[in-house]
Amino acid sequence: MNGLAEAACSFALTRWVSRKSRPDFERWQATALRRFLDRDLPRAPFYRHAPAQLTDLPVTDKALLMGRFEDFNVHGLTAAEAWAALARGGRAGALTVGASTGTSGNRGLFVISEAEKYRWLGAILAKAAPDLVWRGMRVAVILPQNTGLYDSARKSRLIKLAFFDLTLGPESWRGALEAFDPTVIIAPPKMLRHFAAANFRLRPRRVFSAAETLDPVDRPVIEDFFRLPLDQIYMATEGLFAVTCRHGGLHLAEDSVFFEFEPAGEGLVTPLVTAFRRQTQIMARYRMNDLLRLSKEPCRCGSPLRCVDEIVGRMDDVFRLTSPDGPILFTPDVLRNAVLKADRRIDDFRLVQTGPETVELRLPPTLADDAAAAAHQAVRALLEMRKAVATLTLIRAPLPLETSRKLRRVECRLELAR
Ligand SMILES: [Zn+2]
Repeated sequence: MNGLAEAACSFALTRWVSRKSRPDFERWQATALRRFLDRDLPRAPFYRHAPAQLTDLPVTDKALLMGRFEDFNVHGLTAAEAWAALARGGRAGALTVGASTGTSGNRGLFVISEAEKYRWLGAILAKAAPDLVWRGMRVAVILPQNTGLYDSARKSRLIKLAFFDLTLGPESWRGALEAFDPTVIIAPPKMLRHFAAANFRLRPRRVFSAAETLDPVDRPVIEDFFRLPLDQIYMATEGLFAVTCRHGGLHLAEDSVFFEFEPAGEGLVTPLVTAFRRQTQIMARYRMNDLLRLSKEPCRCGSPLRCVDEIVGRMDDVFRLTSPDGPILFTPDVLRNAVLKADRRIDDFRLVQTGPETVELRLPPTLADDAAAAAHQAVRALLEMRKAVATLTLIRAPLPLETSRKLRRVECRLELAR
């Protein structure tokens, strides 16, 4: 099958599955998962045999997948070969190699085939903008260059895709982006917010936040500027995990990923994912680093795919403090809400755990002093309420736009053995 046929099939399958009832969908998913376990998974040397059931497999994580990279892809590509391919532009024979952004040593590598690349594109279009695709669409993707997935769409007649490298900074491509006049924009929330602040001349029909956790504080600024509801694409090195539907529901990509959930406290879960439509790099029961709050209600759009109320942040960014009663954890959403609810004038901040007993709150000098004091007091009250042993320092400093790393307003910089 050629690339566009592959994308069209994936588009059609994604649309078809979205119209099933939940019981029908679960039967379809169970069959697809079983086929993956029998046919695709055993081709990776790490597995070799099909398990009786999914839960017989060990839980995997990034450290294991990166440490034994060649055992998890069916071509035996080593991590060294993959890094070398990435340095040459991301091609390793017929395969595409990509990597996540992040500090060196913490970057995730992935490898996919041409067919998977087009399948991914078909699925994302079917979920993100099925109504726009037949009228021709211009999609601007603003992500770090090394994601490697996006070359595939450039040639298509119905879709024009333009890629803008986040790491070069918006000043280097602002004119080109405005001239491209995209109908769909996919970008990290900090960049969408920068478009608003710098008054970019853009008139998209759909705007998607991607690649970073969408902080509720950014949503109204972006929606007011574009006069559109802001949608989300939740994706990571490991694949596409959720996309917002036309009714605003953030649906898990259960049509390509089987999700198991581990409780993380406070009503939150972390997912274990099995990507049952991937055949090159095998990912089964892979523990993601994200904290999700699952929806209790089904979405009004009628899709059988379950919804997430919120992607709260990353497990990495949970604050780990001590108290007289033992170790305690603070999840990013609780910390964030403490700051934002302290004063309505606060629309940006950084809250960082810098040591086992130290936390820094950074607020811009443009914020009124009484608002800063209120935020300082609110975080201190939250820590005291749970008897955390911690010193909280308030720092008034500008918060610059950083394009070389993910924006995390709540961040734990403790280097803990995990
Ligand atoms: Zn929906």
